[in-house]
Amino acid sequence: MAAAGALAGRAVTIVGAGIGGLTAALALARRGAAVTVLERAGALREVGAGIQVSPNAVRVLEALDIGRDFTAVSVPSHGVTLRDAAGARVLHMDFDRWRPGAAFRTVHRARLIAVLDDAARAAGATILLDTPVETLPDAGLLIGADGLHSRVRVALNGTETPFFTGQAAWRTLVPLEDAASFGAQVFMGPGRHMVSYPLAYGLRNIVAVEERAAWTAEDWSRPDDPAALRAAFADFGGPVPGWLSQVTDCAVWGLHRHRVAPRWHDDRRAILGDAAHPTLPFLAQGACMAIEDAWVLAACLDADADQPRALARYQALRRPRCVRIVEAANANARNYHLSGPRRRVGHTALRLADRLAPRAVFERFAWVYDHDPTAVA
Ligand SMILES: Cc1cc2nc3c(=O)[nH]c(=O)nc-3n(C[C@H](O)[C@H](O)[C@H](O)COP(=O)(O)OP(=O)(O)OC[C@H]3O[C@@H](n4cnc5c(N)ncnc54)[C@H](O)[C@@H]3O)c2cc1C
Repeated sequence: MAAAGALAGRAVTIVGAGIGGLTAALALARRGAAVTVLERAGALREVGAGIQVSPNAVRVLEALDIGRDFTAVSVPSHGVTLRDAAGARVLHMDFDRWRPGAAFRTVHRARLIAVLDDAARAAGATILLDTPVETLPDAGLLIGADGLHSRVRVALNGTETPFFTGQAAWRTLVPLEDAASFGAQVFMGPGRHMVSYPLAYGLRNIVAVEERAAWTAEDWSRPDDPAALRAAFADFGGPVPGWLSQVTDCAVWGLHRHRVAPRWHDDRRAILGDAAHPTLPFLAQGACMAIEDAWVLAACLDADADQPRALARYQALRRPRCVRIVEAANANARNYHLSGPRRRVGHTALRLADRLAPRAVFERFAWVYDHDPTAVA
């Protein structure tokens, strides 16, 4: 990518080296900016579990020339199969059939971070670990990619209190069985559901969500006893008992709802990723939105030397889409957990759709996956 735009030679400081911060570092450095990333963690490549990456985000990775590296550490996802708690099929969304050639993939978060980290450094970005930001530095351009508890978001929007959704989620990894099919499966029971998909390197990712009254902390890395996870899903059938019998450690966190930040920038600061729009995980778009943001932010800044105007354009291009995605994820949370007669009616409708118009269900989400952020900006 030629560095002839408005970013050439400009200094940019990014707080946070998660998926959003590293993608931004890469996108900005490729356009000639002098990028410094400040990350409080001492090591980048260890945390997290699986992430589903859909074509809307893969288009950005490809435009950043890391498509091949990403493919090497990820596996394809052929579709999403919704099942009832016993394991019987309710509906299948066939990615291969409805979008042949589009890249739906799954990856371990740490592997994606490693690809982004290597590419950002190779493009000239400086990434400083063990560098927690307590007071926001006075920089010509400061980007807050500092996640859920973003200080930059607070500086722009004030403090807001999220509310507990009444749902707790476990995440864990188990060994991948032989002859596993590559795609996501969602098992839906009253008040609970489980999502699972294979990752590369012989791993299966599991996220299991249960409704509960008591508050659970919003912290990805809080360990829990695997027996609690097994007990919550003891009446689930199909492959679930076999998977859960292999869990040796798991983490649990409380799902909270946050507003999409009303204000994403001032003249010298901007936010992206979870800092701007934390989402429930039910559309698997948290990391994808962060990747999209990073590209669009870099493109807007590069296209217009008037920084305040470029940042306003960035928010205008991104916020409506992120609001729509966050709302769609909220709606999925309700639909997965139906109970009683509503559940019977809902599942019957989906089974009918599976038989009569399977493509229609997939097409309802086409606006998520067909989007090309590299064409927008
Ligand atoms: C530990 C962890 C595990 C996750 N696991 C999954 C998963 O398994 N599946 C999934 O779909 N999503 C997962 N996510 C969420 C998903 O990665 C995010 O939705 C998406 O990646 C958004 O990324 P982000 O870069 O905006 O924020 P984050 O990934 O949260 O990155 C923010 C970064 O900023 C750093 N930071 C924060 N405050 C400061 C500060 N004051 N000074 C310096 N650095 C700071 C953090 O250490 C972190 O590295 C996980 C997130 C985290 C943090």
